[in-house]
Amino acid sequence: MKTKFSDYKEHYYKLEEFARNEFDVNIVLDSIYEDYFYEMISLITIGKKQNWRGRYYSLLHEIGHLIISKDNDYRETYYPLGKQHYIHANHNSKKAYISLVFEELDAWKLGLLYVKNKGLIYDLEYYHKIMTENVMSHALYGIKKLYF
Ligand SMILES: [Zn+2]
Repeated sequence: MKTKFSDYKEHYYKLEEFARNEFDVNIVLDSIYEDYFYEMISLITIGKKQNWRGRYYSLLHEIGHLIISKDNDYRETYYPLGKQHYIHANHNSKKAYISLVFEELDAWKLGLLYVKNKGLIYDLEYYHKIMTENVMSHALYGIKKLYF
């Protein structure tokens, strides 16, 4: 899909509204926050320091985590840690590492599917670029913890 940089602000707010209406989630954009989904309190925070395109893809990704959390069987079915969230696991286990990497990949995929289904914009070249950077940083972190 062709995207214009100037469209991201409008589509960020559209995406925010779709997610709020559908999932009963709070979404806060502020410079004091990192991009994160707080599952226990159903809150997504998006860092304001990035431009509108960056904020948009961050929100897409966090909505992916939200979608995973809303499905009670998802983690149990697809991740070796099962129901347990990787943040509560022993970080030095292979199962925790694989669960983390898989969930990061799935959050990107489900977030993109969500955006596509809503008819919102996406630029695959940019999406693949930031997804690769993001997943690599998680993967490297886990590998270092496990093997070095
Ligand atoms: Zn993530």
